[in-house]
Amino acid sequence: MISLGIESTAWNFSIGVVSEDEIIALEGNAYSPKEGGIHPREAAQHHSEIAGDVLKRVFEKVSSSEIDVVSFSQGPGMGPCLRIGATVARAIALKLGKPLVGVNHCLAHVEIGKWLTNAKDPVTLYVSGGNSQIIARRGDRYRVFGETLDIGIGNAIDKFARHIGLPHPGGPGIERLAQKGKRYVEMPYVVKGMDFSFSGIVTHAMRLCDEGYRTEDIAFSFQETAFAMLVEVTERAMAYLERDECLLVGGVGANKRLKEMLETMCKERDAEFYAPPAEYMGDNGAMIAYTGLLMAEHGITMETQDSQVRPDFRIEEVRISW
Ligand code: AMP
Ligand code: MG
Repeated sequence: MISLGIESTAWNFSIGVVSEDEIIALEGNAYSPKEGGIHPREAAQHHSEIAGDVLKRVFEKVSSSEIDVVSFSQGPGMGPCLRIGATVARAIALKLGKPLVGVNHCLAHVEIGKWLTNAKDPVTLYVSGGNSQIIARRGDRYRVFGETLDIGIGNAIDKFARHIGLPHPGGPGIERLAQKGKRYVEMPYVVKGMDFSFSGIVTHAMRLCDEGYRTEDIAFSFQETAFAMLVEVTERAMAYLERDECLLVGGVGANKRLKEMLETMCKERDAEFYAPPAEYMGDNGAMIAYTGLLMAEHGITMETQDSQVRPDFRIEEVRISW
């Protein structure tokens, strides 16, 4: 079976085509705001302007007649952005006369991570712009064992980065600054049970930079503190659930220091650490195509009239039959 998948939850409009064995095509066009963070309507406008070109590039690599199913990111995400992807998907499905599959975006991050790393039953740390969750499968559902109480770690990093004049997305810039940090400055470490919060760190880090602390030291301290919170909860979930695999997914997963901290934690408890290649860490169409393929193979498709986007779609709502 060959599945085409469209990702459009936030900054990236991306289309992937996959079979059971390989990623056949992946084309995209990223939106980057001129100033400030991602503006949902502007991002949606971007997606609608470039969608045709991205699709054209995909169909230069794969013939449309080879497509068996059309998948799209149904949520969670920004409503206006989601609607562009869903509209394009509906149009392609109708034109080709193929079934349509609405995919949960978080589930797609987990499934492509498992597929590309061969992890079997991991505790997944999913860290992206809008989301930060610790996820593991129990029976026929993925469950969220811990998550952010306010903003996602990616948005927290981006907000701090903007304050000190770095371009969006701020993750890579903060990582480079942090590598030059020499001194740890204490930051609010907020873990409540299995949940955590990042807004306190952002406010504190911004204030210290305004007071004249070296941005390198603050970026370093920010990363050390926020990542330690994530690693603590991930480890506790692994202990509770008696799992010996840890999978890292989501755009923030590109960060070398976060990887290193998780690797150390895994080594200390004799667990395996997995992370997919950087290209498939952040939002991409291949993850939607692959999860859509799994769903279609298990008979989960939808009618066009049931394909409304779901900005608050949670991973627990999906029954897993594979
Ligand atoms: P996603 O929504 O999964 O595509 O992830 C996007 C987020 O990943 C943005 O907030 C970026 O700032 C963040 N990000 C990308 N690269 C890095 C990095 N090297 N370190 C930390 N965060 C990163
Ligand atoms: Mg994402």
